[in-house]
Amino acid sequence: MVDTLAFPIEKTTQSRLSQVDFTNLGFGKYYSDHMFIAEYAEGKWHSPRIIPYGDLSLSPATSALHYGQAVFEGLKAYKNAEGEVLIFRPEANAQRLNASAERLAMPALPEDIFINGLQQLLTLDKDWVPAAAGHSLYIRPFMFATDAYTGVRPSETYYFIIFTCPVGVYYNKPVRVKVETEFTRAAKGGTGAAKAAGNYAASLLPATLAQKAGYDQLLWTDAKTHEYFEESGTMNVMFVIDGKLITPATSDSILKGITRDSVLKVAQKLGIPTEERAVSVKEVIDAAKNGNLQEAFGVGTAATIAPIAVIGHEGTDYTLPAVENRTIAPRIQTALDDIKTGKAADPFGWILKV
Ligand code: PMP
Repeated sequence: MVDTLAFPIEKTTQSRLSQVDFTNLGFGKYYSDHMFIAEYAEGKWHSPRIIPYGDLSLSPATSALHYGQAVFEGLKAYKNAEGEVLIFRPEANAQRLNASAERLAMPALPEDIFINGLQQLLTLDKDWVPAAAGHSLYIRPFMFATDAYTGVRPSETYYFIIFTCPVGVYYNKPVRVKVETEFTRAAKGGTGAAKAAGNYAASLLPATLAQKAGYDQLLWTDAKTHEYFEESGTMNVMFVIDGKLITPATSDSILKGITRDSVLKVAQKLGIPTEERAVSVKEVIDAAKNGNLQEAFGVGTAATIAPIAVIGHEGTDYTLPAVENRTIAPRIQTALDDIKTGKAADPFGWILKV
């Protein structure tokens, strides 16, 4: 472990580990014993420390609660067969956190605080990383504005925190998605490419309405024309048409998913042709009508790959080929899972061993 940053560690006197039912973890039900915190004031980050996981005490005027200067990340750690903890692409998350922070007029966090804080946290809480197949430790780093000030302006003080939760198998039940042509997730010039808290708040009502209409998720389209696909729920989206893996090119209204990037790189290594470009609703619906849409799926940290079973568009549901008959997504998922859990070599240098 690289120790570029020494900071105090206050260990819990009462571990909660024995209360965890590792056979029924769910998602976000349990929080590990410790959390990492750093604070920002007077132009610099200070007081990095690890303390027992617990409540924060904040002023009701805390500006993040009012004006939404809050950004977050999500990544996972796994155990390999030797019981070592492997973190998947944490540098990419540290960089994306800073890209998000910049868009929200928040300060950059030095990458070594992110990486070193995370490594020490996972060293301390390594017994919280589940070992069972498909299980992992979900890691939630986030930064938010802490000025107790009611005027609208960029805060002068911030917290950066990392907490973690052991999570179970994400059951990849094929989802029914609806092409959203009224609400928008993100617009050109907006905050869609940032992992900003407010983006998720804005997506809740459209997602709830879609669920009431019998769908699991939305397929977001561009704000201006609603003719081009952007993302699926809180994942990036990919289609397989005529044997090619096609995904919308990233832009300022699409989050640069780390799974998206990983899936594209693994696909290329497996010899699967990939295309990053504008993907129109018409192209996908036409392909579905004439039988050329072989697969569609969301890609993101939570599920890695979430197969799409049905696409609803303008009142018609288009059913895709049965998941059992799909070949591209399962090949990529297996190759990626094997890298994440140390079963296969890591040709991309993605794994950080704790
Ligand atoms: N798009 C959105 C809007 C998301 O919230 C996420 C989850 N972070 C993704 C895409 C997928 O990103 P990643 O693969 O980095 O988890």
